[in-house]
Amino acid sequence: MKKTIRDYQYEGKKVIIRCDLNVPIKNGEITDDTRIKESLESINYLTNHKAKVIVLSHLGKIKTEEDKHDNTLYPAYKRLKEYLHTNIYFSKATRGKELEDLVNKLQNGEVLLIENTRYEDYPDKLESNCDEELSKYWASLGEIFINDAYGTTHRAHASNVGIAKLLPNGIGFLVEREITKIDQILEENTHPYTLVMGGKKVSDKTLVIDNLIQKCDYLLLGGGMCFTFLKAKGLEVGSSIVDNENIEYCQNLLANYSNKIILPLDIVTKEKKIVDADQMSSDDIGYDIGPKTIELFSKILKESKRVIINGPMGVFEEKPFDNGTKSIYQVLKDSHIKTLIGGGDSAASVNLLGFSNDFYHISTGGGATLEYLSGVPLKAIEVIENK
Ligand code: ADP
Ligand code: MG
Repeated sequence: MKKTIRDYQYEGKKVIIRCDLNVPIKNGEITDDTRIKESLESINYLTNHKAKVIVLSHLGKIKTEEDKHDNTLYPAYKRLKEYLHTNIYFSKATRGKELEDLVNKLQNGEVLLIENTRYEDYPDKLESNCDEELSKYWASLGEIFINDAYGTTHRAHASNVGIAKLLPNGIGFLVEREITKIDQILEENTHPYTLVMGGKKVSDKTLVIDNLIQKCDYLLLGGGMCFTFLKAKGLEVGSSIVDNENIEYCQNLLANYSNKIILPLDIVTKEKKIVDADQMSSDDIGYDIGPKTIELFSKILKESKRVIINGPMGVFEEKPFDNGTKSIYQVLKDSHIKTLIGGGDSAASVNLLGFSNDFYHISTGGGATLEYLSGVPLKAIEVIENK
């Protein structure tokens, strides 16, 4: 068990919290402030416990001087100011006297947001390479470090791993919720246990498959991924998306787990034709799973005790190719199946198709959750002290 935000006394202490305020911004306006809202629980906990709160976050990527202009955290500061019931200040500097003066002026229960940690990535990638001097400098500003930025926990950066190595530390509420929920569903011993995988490329998912295939009872395959498997079986897949480098991987998997792997029976093509999976012609492009497949998958899903979804069943961004993905979600919802949604686009599809409140857990960390499901320890959580 990792130490958490609840394990420290904060009154009068300078606490550095790494949040994920990486919100989408267009023309200086935030288009979706979910991440800011989600960060409030931990920030409010610290201010309510009279800490002097120093918030760090990245925003986008900084590869040029111009990127700095486009990726300032100032809009996030303005939004936080609306949501917090305390004073909040903004430091334009990511180090130096201006920043230190602001830190020293902080009163108990007040908040200071520091400019985008990735400003330190130009020109020398100091943040992203977990530079030791930068980590030491940031750590010197505070006395306790809390990491609540789940989406970057698979990366070793100065603002998460670097600082954590140097200060008493813990995880925030968001990170705690993510790993508790994911651990719970992975470890509970209930069956049938079904994995549903789709999305774009087999190569993105081989590690997840390798880690979970032995433990699960079924692997249902849809999305773009299934065409590499169908091709591996020697079937015609037309111009559907295929990951040619992984044909052999798919053949081995099919040979070893033929009883677990369930492939689509029919496909909806880009031309909106429904064809059997073994009847595709050379000019077909598979865009979604067909009705017979939905029926087959639904039957298995209804009987499952837990389900992990990674990757949409079709090109859900474009109607009617959202039908397969939507139908699968509907069955899981209606049958109250314990379902974990992992993957950035999978989470986006759940929200877009109107199922935001219907599942056991919708993970917010795309890449981080993929790594976690692959059995790879998350670097920024590993570094946190055990209780
Ligand atoms: P996640 O982010 O959940 O891990 P991926 O990034 O692997 O998922 O895949 C998501 C993308 O896969 C979506 O943009 C979707 O349009 C695309 N996709 C799904 N089915 C197909 C298909 N049959 N052909 C091409 N792209 C597909
Ligand atoms: Mg994705």
